[in-house]
Amino acid sequence: MKKQGKLEQVALTPESRFKFLCHKGIKCFNQCCREVDMVLTPFDIIRMKNRLKLSCDEFLLRYTTPEVLEKTKLPVARLLMGEDEDKRCPFVTEAGCSIYEDRPVICRSYPIGMGTLMKQGAKEKEEFSFMVKEPHCLGFNEDKKWSIREWREDQGVDLYDKMNQGWIDIIIKKKTMSAAGSTAELSDKSLQMFFMVSTNVDKLKNFIFETKFLQVYDIDEDVVERIKSDEVELMKFGLEWLKDVFFGKNNIKIRGETLKKKG
Ligand code: SF4
Ligand code: SF4
Repeated sequence: MKKQGKLEQVALTPESRFKFLCHKGIKCFNQCCREVDMVLTPFDIIRMKNRLKLSCDEFLLRYTTPEVLEKTKLPVARLLMGEDEDKRCPFVTEAGCSIYEDRPVICRSYPIGMGTLMKQGAKEKEEFSFMVKEPHCLGFNEDKKWSIREWREDQGVDLYDKMNQGWIDIIIKKKTMSAAGSTAELSDKSLQMFFMVSTNVDKLKNFIFETKFLQVYDIDEDVVERIKSDEVELMKFGLEWLKDVFFGKNNIKIRGETLKKKG
């Protein structure tokens, strides 16, 4: 997981097999939980801040630093490493990861890296996997065999990807547009909205329920009830709304009256 991890240039399929096992008795135990280069996904943040019983603001302030992704210029939250010499992850203890059940998706998928790309002219994005081999990681010397599919399922990666799908879609679409030479920039307001939806369901809830949002948008009552009581559903809804705003998808309808008034 450390920055200097060697990425194997071989594209792996879900059925590709590898040998790996990570366990407390291994000599390198905890060696990977330092200098971790990790952008947190929206679902990571919800799981972690709930695990730590913190509000989104408290979690972001204590454990993350804001950063702008190079290719897309989208703002994200990066997990802060400790200030000690080893730059250890704030959650690592002698006994291992203190938030193991709610660890971020990057920690879950390691040593498999996952990527998605949208080829020019293609309608569907393409997913690919690659192996991250680091000299200090002895897990590759163990005998347990997995397919990529089995590993992802075992570590809960599939669930995280499903929850983060809207966020991944926005990043890929923005990346594809930039690669195609689009110079269209999102406004500062749009970038702020992206950061809020991606990192802070508390603020998103206020934005939807404490402003004129529900007067402007025509949202089904059952959806309103769902997003009021379930913050993962709220996050997913927020990401769908962002896709509408950024890319004109029009999945979330604006109320007719509002349109008439504007006209
Ligand atoms: S969150 Fe847990 S698994 Fe991930 S780097 Fe930190 S201690 Fe290690
Ligand atoms: S086997 Fe690899 S993933 Fe497991 S503790 Fe060692 S370095 Fe970390």
